[in-house]
Amino acid sequence: MTLVKSKSGGVNILTFDIEDWFHTHQNRHQYSGHIWQKLPSKIVSNTVRILDMLDRHELKATFFILGWVAKYYPEVVSMIHAKGHETGAHSYWHHSPQRLSHADFEKDLKLCLDTIQDITGEKVTAYRAPGFNLNPKDTWAFEILAAHGIKTDSSVQLVHIPKSIPLILKNRNYEIAEFPLVTTSFGFPYSGGGYFRVLPSVYVNYLFKQYKYHLLYFHPRDFDPDYPFINLFSFFRNQLNRFNTDRCMDKLEVVLEQYPTITLKEATKLSDTKNP
Ligand SMILES: [Zn+2]
Repeated sequence: MTLVKSKSGGVNILTFDIEDWFHTHQNRHQYSGHIWQKLPSKIVSNTVRILDMLDRHELKATFFILGWVAKYYPEVVSMIHAKGHETGAHSYWHHSPQRLSHADFEKDLKLCLDTIQDITGEKVTAYRAPGFNLNPKDTWAFEILAAHGIKTDSSVQLVHIPKSIPLILKNRNYEIAEFPLVTTSFGFPYSGGGYFRVLPSVYVNYLFKQYKYHLLYFHPRDFDPDYPFINLFSFFRNQLNRFNTDRCMDKLEVVLEQYPTITLKEATKLSDTKNP
């Protein structure tokens, strides 16, 4: 496996991280995940909004699902799976791997995988770390991921597009196909989440034209026009979280019409076919 290239000379992978509006990293250290159950969830309606949009465009995508969401809202996993989308894991408690001991990282991963797999009946082989917080040098994490059946990862942020996509991360204990999030040379990601919402469309279009590989990543909350205001976050963070959520879906649909997207699984197959 070396270089993935579609006929248009690029590859665009569409992914969603399925977590609720309060599952952000901001101020995460100030509260325990155990309060999540007390907050009003919007995960079902916000995920349905995404699934309806994908149906309209006849697209399939990769969904990295938070184990906590799978546990308390299993219908979200069932809906995604029933529509034929790819299901991946996004940890159980949404901790950055860098803040966990190796043993706790493994425990969290296993809990996430078991929760999702019990619903779909299918093995999960794709993983994304919260906050794209893995580095190719985190061999300990990739060893744990591979030991639990993960074959494809999308947790690494790079400033330049590597010569080959996927990046093959391996040592004698693992081989994982890495589909990294590539940022601009200034170091900010433009292909999803808050940056995509905040940046002007003209600039987003310019960046999409500049690069041949795009990893699109969104959350259900990015498209919620009624994003709740909460005192867990600062005033500024509240404003940022809610900024342009009423326009983000339209903005994404314009991009999707110009840049056909595929799932991680399809991207892996494409690279296998082209480089047997
Ligand atoms: Zn996340």
